[in-house]
Amino acid sequence: MDLTKRQQQIIEIVKENGPITGENIAEQLSLTRATLRPDLAILTMAGYLDARPRVGYFYTGKTGSELLTERLRKLTVQEFQSIPVVVHENVSVYDAICTMFLEDVGTLFVVNEYSHLIGVLSRKDLLRASIGNQDLRTIPVHIIMTRMPNVTLCFKEDLLIEASQKLIEKQIDGLPVVKETEDGYEVVGRLTKTNVTKALVEMGRDERI
Ligand code: ADP
Repeated sequence: MDLTKRQQQIIEIVKENGPITGENIAEQLSLTRATLRPDLAILTMAGYLDARPRVGYFYTGKTGSELLTERLRKLTVQEFQSIPVVVHENVSVYDAICTMFLEDVGTLFVVNEYSHLIGVLSRKDLLRASIGNQDLRTIPVHIIMTRMPNVTLCFKEDLLIEASQKLIEKQIDGLPVVKETEDGYEVVGRLTKTNVTKALVEMGRDERI
């Protein structure tokens, strides 16, 4: 992340004088504590500085790549997930194909009458059914989907890095983000390779601190 001149000055002051209170840093820069507060918050969140109550700020000495890794490991699924697209288990393969085009997604989640997740449909699942020369308007999707308990899923609180690992291990494009209910999983989101790519780009551009 690019630091402002003032933020760099703060780091230098803390490096030399830490632990040092916010009040004292402000004094050295002839600024008020309030003016400094956002900078101190940014530097602490980014990991350059650490703050201990009643002691003050001190320099962590972490390198840029250590800080980046730390930030990457803190990202969670909910920060990057998309809206899920679900279809009912009795919808035809034909209608599922239409939904996939209309909603512009590569993975559909299949639910039962209680809106609980029961399966997943990918582009290839639908293509495979289509080349079988069957009447796509009469085959319900539950016949061709990948079904529970074989569906790989994640929760919104999960770490992005762990969910991404599942995508790689299972060689799939997306995961349903679910919420556990008494008698099944409710689909609350969708985490795809595109979401993970976006996270990577944001990190690279330092849009996240
Ligand atoms: P595509 O088939 O279009 O290449 P995927 O690689 O995501 O897309 O899907 C490969 C297979 O894995 C398909 O049969 C699909 O039903 C299944 N699949 C997709 N997502 C999941 C998931 N989250 N859990 C379990 N199986 C999945």
